[in-house]
This record gives sequence, C-alpha cells and structure tokens, in this order.
Amino acid sequence: KPVSGFEGISQVTYEDIGGLREELQRLRETIELPMRHPELFRRLGIEPPKGVLLFGPPGTGKTLIAKAVANESGAHFIPIAGPEVISKYYGESEQRLREVFDEAEDNAPAIIFIDELDSITPKREEVTGEVERRVVAQLLTMMDGLEERGEVIVIGATNRLDAIDPALRRPGRFDREIEIGVPAEPDRHDILMIHTRGMPLAEDVNLSELSARTHGYTGADLAALAREAAIRALRRYLPDIDLDEEEIPQEILEKMVVTYKDFKQ
Ligand code: ATP
Repeated sequence: KPVSGFEGISQVTYEDIGGLREELQRLRETIELPMRHPELFRRLGIEPPKGVLLFGPPGTGKTLIAKAVANESGAHFIPIAGPEVISKYYGESEQRLREVFDEAEDNAPAIIFIDELDSITPKREEVTGEVERRVVAQLLTMMDGLEERGEVIVIGATNRLDAIDPALRRPGRFDREIEIGVPAEPDRHDILMIHTRGMPLAEDVNLSELSARTHGYTGADLAALAREAAIRALRRYLPDIDLDEEEIPQEILEKMVVTYKDFKQ
C-alpha cells in the first residue's frame, strides 16, 4: 500500500492562501528553483537545500502553504505527523521513515512534509527519550543520504522553534527557516475574502470592518468564523424547510444569504 497519497491536496493553489506573500515567495525560491534548475547550484558549487523549517503559531497556514507549493510545482506530496513516526516498537519508526523517503525518491520531484517536527526531539529533562533519539538519528541519515539533485525536499513545521533538536538545524539539514506569523489586518481581509468567496453574502457584510475587529485571529480562526456564520444563517432558514421533502425548493435556496449579524454573534 502507498505510504500516503495525493488526496485532498491536489486542489490547494496559491489562490487559497491569504497574505503570506513574502513567505510564499521565499518558500517557492527555496523549493522550486533547485527542483527545476539544479544546474544553477552545481555551477556555483553549492548544494541545493534539502530542508526548510516553517515555524509559527498553530493555524497560521504552514500546512496550507506547503501543500500549495507541492501542488503548483507538480511535486509529489507526502505529509506525515511527527508523533505518528514515534513508535514504541523497536525499529518501527526507522522503518516508517525509510518508507517515506523511498516513496519520495521513487516519485521525485517530491516534498516530504513533517508536521510537529518538535515532537521527535528528545526532552532534555527525561532520562528516556530513547525512541526520539533514534528517530532524529534516522532522519539525519536519510537527509544526508538524499541525492544532491534537489529533487526531494523535506519541509518541517513547528510551533516551537526552540524545541527542535539542534542537530536537525545544522547546515545540510533544516537550514532554511521561514516564520509564518499571525496575520495583520490586510492579510486577515485577504483570508476572509477567500473563506467567504463561495458564500451568498448579504450586502451589509463588511469584511473590512470584520478584519479590523479580529486582531489576533489566525487563518484557521478566520476560516472557522466564516463557517460558523454560514451555519448560523442556515439555522435561520431551517424552520422554513421541510426536511422530509426530497429536494429543498429552489426559491428557498435562492433567498438564502449570510448576513453581517451572522458573523457578529
Ligand atoms: P498547525 O500548526 O496546527 O498544523 P498550520 O499552521 O499548519 O497549523 P493550517 O493547517 O495550514 O495551519 O491551517 C488550517 C486551516 O486554516 C487551513 O486549512 C485554512 O482553511 C485556514 N488558513 C490558515 N491560514 C490561512 C491563510 N493564510 N489563508 C487562508 N486560509 C488559511
């Protein structure tokens, strides 16, 4: 069976990312350039990057941006979660990592995305951490063994940069770092536009005001805000709807709108 697949990622495009322009630009340069033109790096006598770290609070779009770059560059995408690799059975974690890297090399160009990379760092205060130590060692071995053609790149994501094992951040490993922060007002506006673009918005919906009022919201928070507004709108129409009927009458579907009040409750 394949280690993982393409499900659910093939649709993510740059259009789905609100804000994060410079971050996306930097990620693209780091990933697409060596994938498409390894000769540039060869000519300069340097190795193309093998690993990139995306760091920042939860829900800010780290997974989203990685999926979009994979999709738009036509790279095979293999998402794994750090904790999923940690197995208490001897050798199983190493085996799992080998499978992931094999899949990537067989399907190159490929991007391996490791979410929660910090979870494979041995905790200093613990005497154990034995599995984590072995997983870090295996990951280093696999990254060091990657052919220097720039065709397989590992993206690691974390909320805690300081919790990443220092060995993983040395040159030739995860040596590029891109911060993905909480969005400022214009970016919140962008994100709200994206998450309401399929909704029938009433005329009173003021996304500028909404973006001004949502200081501190992440992309995930804003996506949830939009979704909840739509659910609230749906509840307003439910009393008019006979759910036993085969189909909802067209005139009801047509009059449904999401109002500004739905966003503000
Ligand atoms: P975690 O650290 O929890 O894994 P993450 O940074 O990887 O978080 P994502 O999984 O990329 O966050 O974001 C969750 C969801 O929030 C996305 O699927 C998307 O719907 C929405 N979202 C987050 N950031 C953005 C953004 N910049 N533009 C549009 N949508 C966003």
